[in-house]
Order: sequence, then structure tokens, then C-alpha cells
Amino acid sequence: MIQSILSNLAVILLSHLAITTLIGYRERFSKLLLQISIVLLMSITVISMFYLPIVVDNFRFDLRLIPLMTLAIFSGWRITLSTLFIACLWRLFMGGVGAIPGVLYGMALPTVFALLYARIIGRKGRLWDRFVIVSICWAISDIPLMFFLTDGFSILKQIGPWRYSSFLTATMIYYTVIQIEKNRFAMKERLEFLATHDQLTELLNRQECIRLTEVKAKSTSKNVKHFIAMFDIDNFKSLNDRYGHVAGDETLIQMAQIFKSFETDQVNIARYGGEEFMMHICAQNREEAITLLESIQECIRQTAFRVTQNQTISVTVSIGLAHWEENSSLQDTIMEADQKLYVAKDRGRDQMVV
Ligand code: GH3
Ligand code: MG
Ligand code: MG
Repeated sequence: MIQSILSNLAVILLSHLAITTLIGYRERFSKLLLQISIVLLMSITVISMFYLPIVVDNFRFDLRLIPLMTLAIFSGWRITLSTLFIACLWRLFMGGVGAIPGVLYGMALPTVFALLYARIIGRKGRLWDRFVIVSICWAISDIPLMFFLTDGFSILKQIGPWRYSSFLTATMIYYTVIQIEKNRFAMKERLEFLATHDQLTELLNRQECIRLTEVKAKSTSKNVKHFIAMFDIDNFKSLNDRYGHVAGDETLIQMAQIFKSFETDQVNIARYGGEEFMMHICAQNREEAITLLESIQECIRQTAFRVTQNQTISVTVSIGLAHWEENSSLQDTIMEADQKLYVAKDRGRDQMVV
């Protein structure tokens, strides 16, 4: 019996490994292909478990409900119901007297219950909720035995405790493994975000913006022109001195929100450092880039930046714009935009030099 339980666990963990590997490479597939692959893998898992029954006192039972319940808790209804549908069809195809009750009580009703329960409690079900789901699913699938089989009550008394405890053990091991994987995945995403974004403003950082700009330049058509704009907040030091660094930070965050509202597929923006920002613009011509920058500059002029609970101030920026020519490097273009920015500062700030 222990051997059968371990075989079931091995199947479950193997499919878990396959699915986490797939999710790890999810950028390479479309969302639909990923979902179809998960449904197929989980269906194979459930179907394999039909063939690995656990035998207690001449009675056979299997743990096929575990992957279905787990899907109901951790995935959406689409993946869960598609897997349930395939597994039910297979069970009906296998035939036998137990086919209809096996499908109804052994799979469909408990899975739908777990799906509804997981929807009500939300995805972040605690250990307690999972314990309740497993117990009720077990009850839905096993209690009807009493009514369908002659001598059903004594059969239930004989195999019920075995089935419930193997159910509970296997499920808890499975959930723990999934939870560890989910935590690891969330940590990886967080690390990736921290490596590519500025922490204060959550804009791209300088390195990531340069990398994305180079990638974009290679992938766009020759007709598209690339521009680099450098922004610098005017007299930011005196804003800090007058209202404090917290107000300065708030201004940077608010400024970043304005920039984000202009971000599109054609426009990338990063915090270059301190109170300086870099923008990469893909445009048909210079005028298009200038129009965009003028509207950003005007939007900043019109914004009331909150520096204390009941005080707002106006802030301006100076901008240098350079065209990234085919025969020059991105670094040289950034330097050129920077030089133009300093010309804008010399000319009295709150302006753009092209
Ligand atoms: P200019 O118009 O010539 O650009 O003058 P400025 O005062 O804006 O330029 P300066 O380079 O003299 O000062 C930039 C200031 O930006 C100095 C620094 O304390 C401040 N700063 C840089 N990073 C941060 C930050 O993350 N938070 C805050 N609050 N201030 C910052
Ligand atoms: Mg500066
Ligand atoms: Mg400045």
C-alpha cells in the first residue's frame, strides 16, 4: 500500500516539475499554448492515477481527486474544468458499473465544490481552508458509497480512514511543494524587477533603458527614427533645501507618474540618476518627437506638486534632444542630448534644446 501511495506522489510531483518548468519558460509560449499544455499534463496525471490504485483489504481506491482539487485551488476555472472534462471522458470510456458514480462523486462534484470554495476565499487560502476543502471533497466522494453499495457502511468504515489519511497526507505534501515553488517564483520576479527598475520611482533604471533601447533599435524598421531626450528638474536642490528631502522624493515620484502616463510601445523612460531622466522615442520625424516632448513639458508646468500637507508648488524641467544617427553610438547620442540639456540650463531653464 505504501508503495502505491508513493507511486501516486511520484506521478503528482513529476507533473508538478513539468508544469513549473513550462511556467519558467512562459515568455516563449502564448498564454493559450501554456494553458493547453497544463491541461494536457494534468489530465495525463489524473488518468495515470486511475491505473495506480491503492489496495486495502481487497478494496481498491485511487487518489485522482488530488490533482483536480489542487487545480481548483491554484488555477482558474478554465484549466480546472477542461482537465476535469478530459478525465471524466476517460473514466466513462473505461466503463464498468462504477463509471457514473465515479465521475459524479469521485471527480465532478468535489472539484466543482473546491473551485467554488477557492473562489469565495480567494487564491490565498490558508492551511486551514485547504484542510476544509480536502475533508469536504473526501466526504463528497466517499460518503455516497454508503448508499450505493450493499454493506456500504462497513466498507466505508474499513477503507474510509485509509483513504482520508492518504488523501490528507498526499495533498499536504503537494501543497507544500507548490507553495515553496510559488514563493521562489515571486522572489525571482521581485529580484528581476529590482534589477531593472529604480526603487524610488519604479521607472526603468538606466542600464535597462539602454538595453531596451538597443533591442528596440534593432527590431524596428529603417523608416523609424530614434531620439534620445534627457530631462533635468530645474533648481531641484533648492526645492530639497526649502521643503526637505522627503518632499523632494515625493516630487520625483509624482514626476515619474507623469512620465509613465506618456509611456507607450514607442516611448521608454528611465530614471537616469538623481533628478535626471532619459527618454527613448521612436518617431517618423523630428517634429513628432518635439511635439511629444512639448506636451510632456507643458503637462509638468501645469501640475501642482505636493510638498507639504497643504502646499503645492510648480516645477519645471529642461530638456536636451538628440537624433540617434545610424553611424553613431547610443552613448554618443546620450552625451549629445546631455550637452543640449546644459545649453537649455544656460539659456535660463524650463526649455528644450534640439
Ligand atoms: P539645475 O536647475 O541646474 O539642474 O539645478 P539643480 O539644483 O536641480 O541641480 P543640482 O545638480 O545642483 O542638484 C541636484 C539635486 O538633486 C542635488 C541632490 O540632493 C538632489 N537629489 C538627487 N537625487 C535625489 C533623490 O533621490 N531624492 C532627493 N530628495 N533629492 C535628490
Ligand atoms: Mg542634475
Ligand atoms: Mg536639476
